[in-house]
Amino acid sequence: MRIDLHSHSTASDGRLTPSELVRRAVAQEVDVLALTDHDTVLGLAEARACIVAEALPLELINGIEISCSWESLEIHVVGLGIDPDCSALQGVIIQQEAARKERGQEIGRRLEKQKIPEAYAGALALAGNGALTRAHFARYLVAEGHCQNQQKAFDKYLGRGGKAYVPHHWVSIAEAIDVIHQAGGLAVLAHPGRYKLSTKWLKRLLELFAQVGGDAMEVSLPQQSPQERANLGQWCRDAGLKASVGSDFHAPMPWLELGKNLWLPKDVTPVWDSLLVANESSTFREEL
Ligand code: AMP
Ligand code: MN
Ligand code: MN
Ligand code: MN
Repeated sequence: MRIDLHSHSTASDGRLTPSELVRRAVAQEVDVLALTDHDTVLGLAEARACIVAEALPLELINGIEISCSWESLEIHVVGLGIDPDCSALQGVIIQQEAARKERGQEIGRRLEKQKIPEAYAGALALAGNGALTRAHFARYLVAEGHCQNQQKAFDKYLGRGGKAYVPHHWVSIAEAIDVIHQAGGLAVLAHPGRYKLSTKWLKRLLELFAQVGGDAMEVSLPQQSPQERANLGQWCRDAGLKASVGSDFHAPMPWLELGKNLWLPKDVTPVWDSLLVANESSTFREEL
C-alpha cells in the first residue's frame, strides 16, 4: 500500500489541478493521498468529486498545510483528516489569507523599488483562485525574465535576506495545532529537515511541538539520505510523536513523484494508524 500525506494543487502553489493530482496519484499507484494546500482547503471538494465521478481507487485524506511563525522562522504544520468546514479552522484560513495578501502587496512594493513593476498583479494572476504564495512571485519573476529560475528568484528577492523579503505574521504553532484538533484532525510537523536548524534547535522545536499537543512529524521525504531518515526516526520516538510520510509534491519533476521513495523506519508509530481503518493500516505495516 502506497501512502503520501503531503501534496499541493492549484488551490495553492501546485501546478496540477486537484483533479489532475488525484488522477496522477492513481497512475502512480498511490492508495492514500492527503491534499495539503498552503492555508486553504479549497482544492478538496474538486479532488473528491473527481474521485467519485471517475470511480478512482484512491482514499483522499482532507488536509491543509498551515504556515506558522516561530521565533523568526516559518514552520509548516500539516493537518490531516480535518473537517474543512470547521468554523475555527475557517477563521484561521481567513486570517492567513489576509496575511498573505498584505505580505504580497509589500513584496510587490519592494520589487517595484527594484524596478520590477506589476509583480503583485502578476503573482495574483498566476495564483488565480488559489492561495497567493511566494512561489507565484517566483514564477512571475522568471516569466518576466528577471530571474533564470525560481531558486534564483528566492535567492535574490524572495527568500530571507532577499531584496523583497517581507517578515511574516502567521499564526503560532500552538494556534495551528489547536484549530487542526478542533477540526478533528491530527497535527503533523512538516519537513523538519528543511528549516536549516542545528540538531539542538531542531530537538527544541520537536519538544515544543509535542508539548503544545502536536501529534506527529514527517520522518520520510523523498531525496533523503538513510542517515537523515534514521535520525528523524530517532528524534520522532524521543519526542513521543507519530511518524508521517509525504512527497510535498508541487509539480511533475524528473526527480520527484507522488508516493515514491517514502518509507518509515520500523520502530516508529505511523500516523495513519489513527487515520485509516485498521485492516488497511496493518497491510501497509506488513509490507514495511
Ligand atoms: P509562502 O508560503 O508564500 O512563503 O511560499 C513558500 C512556497 O514557496 C513553498 O511552499 C515552496 O513551495 C516555495 N519555495 C520556498 N522556497 C523556495 C525555493 N528556495 N525555491 C523554490 N521554491 C521555494
Ligand atoms: Mn509550496
Ligand atoms: Mn512546507
Ligand atoms: Mn508543502
